[in-house]
Amino acid sequence: MNYRVLLYYFYTTIEDPTAFAEQHLQQCKELELKGRILVATEGINGTVSGTIEATAAYMDLLKNDPRFDGIVFKMDEAEGHTFKKMHVRPRPELVNLSLEDDINPHEITGEYLSPTQFLEQMQLDDTVVLDVRNTYEYDVGHFRGAIRPDVKNFRDTPQWVLENREMFEGKRVLTYCTGGIRCEKFSGWLKREGFDNVGQLHGGVASYSKDPEAKGQLWDGQMYVFDERLTVPINQVEHIVVGQDHFDGTPCERYINCANPECNKQILTSEENEAKHLGGCTIECTKHERNRYIVRHGLTDEQVQQAIAKLEQA
Ligand SMILES: [Zn+2]
Repeated sequence: MNYRVLLYYFYTTIEDPTAFAEQHLQQCKELELKGRILVATEGINGTVSGTIEATAAYMDLLKNDPRFDGIVFKMDEAEGHTFKKMHVRPRPELVNLSLEDDINPHEITGEYLSPTQFLEQMQLDDTVVLDVRNTYEYDVGHFRGAIRPDVKNFRDTPQWVLENREMFEGKRVLTYCTGGIRCEKFSGWLKREGFDNVGQLHGGVASYSKDPEAKGQLWDGQMYVFDERLTVPINQVEHIVVGQDHFDGTPCERYINCANPECNKQILTSEENEAKHLGGCTIECTKHERNRYIVRHGLTDEQVQQAIAKLEQA
């Protein structure tokens, strides 16, 4: 494999995110990288794919910049690019927590736990594991027994925790996310709210899966990622499927986007059920006039009518 996917973040001060983003985009393009990078006055958060040489040059570029002294890159091998385009975008914050009084992880954050510490501690009594990702990420894979906040967006998680305070009170709370960046702020927020026994999985699940001792243990399912791979394996010891088909609830780890371009919802479903529903997540989406599944498969009106009739009978 000649390509790699990098995942990284770093909390640091970037004085002029807009100017930085513009220049950074040029540098990424020169290296023929593809991916998504967010830049804020509080730092950088990115994931890019490129050749081994290009990703090595990119890591050097950041490591040689004193502002990013100490940055850590998580790496996956890949067959080719895992993104279609290259974006570098200035943003007000790196992760959208929208707190009135923002958290600076350099000032307050949960105790950093290595993969082996996390593996050990998550199995202790009086310890709860809190998944701070989105529900669509949780649903295809998560740590065994982890709490799934029932929220649409990350920024709603603080409110959810406050409403379910009794689940966490008096317990050791361990948080985790994909690469660690969401936990930096979220665990800091937990501490500020008075949950003082808080640990976070340093480097996130992306690092945990690569640890030679932790070996991804007690992770069930796959891990959702924000590129064209959609999911990646984590547990090197066993593989238990936890994802469920959107239509019939059977075990499933295959994500599609709803064929209605105005919906575009990500759902887990088999090829067979996707075909049966013409790619729509609901009957309304199936019937949408711009259904992409119908176009992509060159279905005739008759075929479409037959499929819809079958769904309406069922
Ligand atoms: Zn839909």
